[in-house]
Amino acid sequence: MNNKKEIYLYNRPQKKNSEFIMWMGFPGIYSFSMSSLGYLWMCKTIDELQDVNIERICSDTEKTRFNVNDVKMFGFSFSFDLDFLTIFAMLEKYGIPLKSKERTEGPLVFAGGPVVSANPKPYKDFFDFFIIGDGEDINLTAVNICKNSPDKTSALKRLSEIEGIYVPAYPKRVKKLTKQLKECIYTPIISEDAFFKNTFILEMSRGCANRCGFCLASYLNLPLRCIPYEELLKAIDLGLENTDSIALLGAQISAHPHFHDVCEYIFNKIQSGKDIKMSVSSLRVDAITPHVVKTLVAAGQKTSTLAVEAGSERLRKAINKNLDAEQIFNAVKIARENGLKGLKFYGMIGLPTEEYEDLEEIINLAKKIKKHNKGFEISFGFSSFVPKPNTPFQWCGRNETKLLEQKANFLKKELHKLGISSQISSIKWDYWQAVLSRGDESLCDFVLEVYRQGGKLGAFKAAAKKFKINTDSFATENYSFDKKLPWDFIEISPGKEFLIKENKRLLLDFI
Ligand code: SF4
Repeated sequence: MNNKKEIYLYNRPQKKNSEFIMWMGFPGIYSFSMSSLGYLWMCKTIDELQDVNIERICSDTEKTRFNVNDVKMFGFSFSFDLDFLTIFAMLEKYGIPLKSKERTEGPLVFAGGPVVSANPKPYKDFFDFFIIGDGEDINLTAVNICKNSPDKTSALKRLSEIEGIYVPAYPKRVKKLTKQLKECIYTPIISEDAFFKNTFILEMSRGCANRCGFCLASYLNLPLRCIPYEELLKAIDLGLENTDSIALLGAQISAHPHFHDVCEYIFNKIQSGKDIKMSVSSLRVDAITPHVVKTLVAAGQKTSTLAVEAGSERLRKAINKNLDAEQIFNAVKIARENGLKGLKFYGMIGLPTEEYEDLEEIINLAKKIKKHNKGFEISFGFSSFVPKPNTPFQWCGRNETKLLEQKANFLKKELHKLGISSQISSIKWDYWQAVLSRGDESLCDFVLEVYRQGGKLGAFKAAAKKFKINTDSFATENYSFDKKLPWDFIEISPGKEFLIKENKRLLLDFI
C-alpha cells in the first residue's frame, strides 16, 4: 500500500479480477492513522474482500497507487468536530467537488464515526451518505451495493433502504447500528511510524454503563458491550507475537468483568521474563487497585490519568459520576504505594448547574491530595462542557465564553499557587465545537465558508457574520424538551423519552 514499514496481522488476498477501487480517507497525517483502531479495522475488513482494491489515503499522502478517476468510493473517518476542515482539503487535493450535488461524476463520498453518527446535519450537503453507528459490518454491505449498482443514483437509492445508512437525498428515520461484539477489534497493521510506535491497540469494551449525563461515548454506545475473554487473550497473543507494546482501549475498560484477569495475564508474562509495555486509556477512580497499578508499573507506565470530571460531590452526583472524595484519596494512595510516579486528573468546567463553590472544591481536593502525597506528581487537565446530541445534557446550553474564561483563569491561578500544573482546553474552540455539535443543516454553507477562509477562529466568526447565524442558539441556549432537534431523525437505542427522564433525574433538583 505504501513504502512505510508495516506489519500486516491478516492475510491479504491477491486481488484478481478486481477493478473496483475504493479510497478510505483519514483526516490527519499518516502516523495518526496508524494508531486509529476504528479506521484501520475498517480498512482491513474491506481489504479482505477478494474483489475490492482499497487504498488508505491520509492528509499527507504524497503519491497514490490508484488514479482518482478510477476511484468509485471515497470514505472518511469523521471522529472530531473539526475534521471537516481536513476532509474538505483532501477532497480538493484530488479535484473532487465538495458538495455532493456538484459531483455528477467521480466517487461516492461518505463518512462514518462518532461526530456524524450523533448529528450529521451540518455536513449533509457534502457527503452522499453517512454510516450511523458501528460501521464494521454495514461498510461491507455498502461496498457491495455500490459495486453492484449500475450508477450512483441507483446505488444511493438502494443504500437509503439499509438500516444504519443515512442518504441525505432520500431522507428518512435512521436507526443507529449497534454491533454485538463477538470478536476483538484491534489494529490489524503495526507500524514503527505510527504515533504510538509499534503499538498493538485492542478494544476491550465499547460504551460505558456509567452514563455520565454529558457523555457521548456512553449514550451513543449503549448498552456496554464487552469482548469475550477468550477473544481478548487470542488477540493479545497475536499482538505480542508481533510487538512488545500493547494498549488496551475502551471508554471504561475497568468495567470489563475480566479486566483484572487480563492484567494478570500480562503481568504473568512480564514475570516470566517477557518485556512488555502496556498502557490503558484513562481509568475510573474505582478501578485503581494494587494489582492493576502493579501491572501498569511492571509494563513501564509511570503515570496515569484519572477522570474525576467535577470537584464537588454535589456536582459529580448531578452529572451521574457518583464518586466521593474518600474514593479519590484512596485511589491516589494505592497508585503511589504501588509504584506510579504521578497522576493526572481530568475534569470539565461549565457543567450544568456548576457554581464557583464547585470549582473551589477542586482546589480543596488538589490541596488535600498534595498535602498527603508529598513527592507524588499531580497535575490537572480540563476541558469545557460541550453539549452533545443524544445525551441527557443535549438540552443544556454551555456557559458564556467570558464566564468560562474566568472560571478557567481562576482554576489555573489557584492550582499554580499550590505548585500544581494545569492545562485547559481553548474555551473559544470549545464554543465552536458546541455550535457544530448541536448544529442543523443551515450550517452547511457556514462550514464551507469557514474552510474557504482558512479554518482559524477568525474564519468561524467571519462565516457566522456573513450568513447572519445566531451561533449562540446552538452553543449556549437552554432548550425545552419539546424543541425539535436536528438529530431527532436518528434513533439511538435508549430513545428520547429515556434521555428526558435521565435529564430530569440528574438535574431537576438543581435547575
Ligand atoms: S465514566 Fe467516563 S466513559 Fe463512562 S459515562 Fe462517565 S465520562 Fe463517559
